[in-house]
Amino acid sequence: MKVTLFGAAGDVTGSAYYVQIASASVLVDFGSFQGRKEMQIHNETLTTLDLKKLDAVILTHAHLDHTGRLPLLVKSGYKGPVYATKATIDVAGLILMDSAKIQGYEIKRKNKKPEKAGQPLLKQIYGEEEIKKVMSLFIPVPYNTPYEIAEGCFVRLHESGHLLGSASIEMDIEENGNKKIIVFSGDIGPDDTAIVKNPDPFSSADLVFLESTYGDHNHKPLEETLLEGKEIIDRASVKKGKILVPAFAIGRSQQLLYYLARGFHRKTLNKIPVYLDSPMAIKATKVYAGHKELYDDEAAELYRTGVIKSDLSGIHISESAEDSIALNNAEGPCMIIAGGGMCNAGRILHHLKHNLYKPETTVMITGYQGTGSLGRKLLEGSKKVKIFGEEVVVRADIAHMGGLSAHADQSGLLKWFDAVSDSKPVLVLSHGEDKGRKPLAEIIKKKYNIKAVLPEYGETIML
Ligand SMILES: [Zn+2]
Repeated sequence: MKVTLFGAAGDVTGSAYYVQIASASVLVDFGSFQGRKEMQIHNETLTTLDLKKLDAVILTHAHLDHTGRLPLLVKSGYKGPVYATKATIDVAGLILMDSAKIQGYEIKRKNKKPEKAGQPLLKQIYGEEEIKKVMSLFIPVPYNTPYEIAEGCFVRLHESGHLLGSASIEMDIEENGNKKIIVFSGDIGPDDTAIVKNPDPFSSADLVFLESTYGDHNHKPLEETLLEGKEIIDRASVKKGKILVPAFAIGRSQQLLYYLARGFHRKTLNKIPVYLDSPMAIKATKVYAGHKELYDDEAAELYRTGVIKSDLSGIHISESAEDSIALNNAEGPCMIIAGGGMCNAGRILHHLKHNLYKPETTVMITGYQGTGSLGRKLLEGSKKVKIFGEEVVVRADIAHMGGLSAHADQSGLLKWFDAVSDSKPVLVLSHGEDKGRKPLAEIIKKKYNIKAVLPEYGETIML
């Protein structure tokens, strides 16, 4: 049996593990690349892969870097099953559709010049049609239940605590009378992630693929981060200004709403009106509300006692563009959570344009800001920025609530691995750049005397 990595090898995007045994071939995740330019060719065509045949696909979770190449499979004629938890299927539907839409806008923008010049136009890699085909192939798999996905290949999904529906996968394989266990960690969340349960590790494996995104450091304690959030709200309340939160629509937005509802209820936060101004985040929040069976104990209790409400009645929803524009007249103090996360597109740009010049405004950044993004410029202290071609002076308070993460830190990853370490598995560190995976490999070597494999794209691990 062998496993080839077609992504997330020395990289944090493009997760894809091609498992080949005598009786079947299975893909675990098939995500798109979002970082290095030279890898993005793999987002466009399957011809660079050596997929002999494919009997089934199984997903760890819905993020685009784990699902984004599925439309390529259906385009090339794949009609087999795609297994995932029910929540992953629901969230993946939102993410894939959104990605097709964004691609559509991008292609239109990029084609403007060649169209005028009569040059050949770029084609969209996939659209709504392919997404619908992918959705028709999904088959839900329950957690903690052995499930046969291909001949000789059973899986068991464990909570991975990263996103609603996220799972680590145990694969029990039988080949020529030999039984082996392969474990794919998927993306592992920190123990204290709001709403979702903590990661549930495995106790035995012959081969482990462990993510290593933050293998090099530990996060700031959550309490400290939440205190920063409280101070931001306190300051804005005194100034009676708007707090603009660039929203990562799925996961981070629901976490924030959760902390707000909990803080208002416990009276640890000044109660201010909260507006959710992102159609995608509204949809995602409804998906979260539809999967209460996956909530951790605290979230289940807050739901049972009505502190968090599944009909979103505690917050103001801005579905339409008119609703969003009307927020220009909303009085502070208030919080507007608007897409998108790095301030490069979406409704947040309108709010920034109308409010950055006001000293009473606060911008609260809650997630990673890529190089060159407007969010990064604000964090770096730019005094003037360009929005929709217009120069805007920055007088707002730019606040960073930097400790929220969807990935376990070094100690979280070690804790997860510790549970399976007694079985002395072959360990492959995937889903991490050298910066993350090398320090983690060193610690694991010292602590467990296990020398981790640090694979490159296309590398095959034999078992
Ligand atoms: Zn993820």
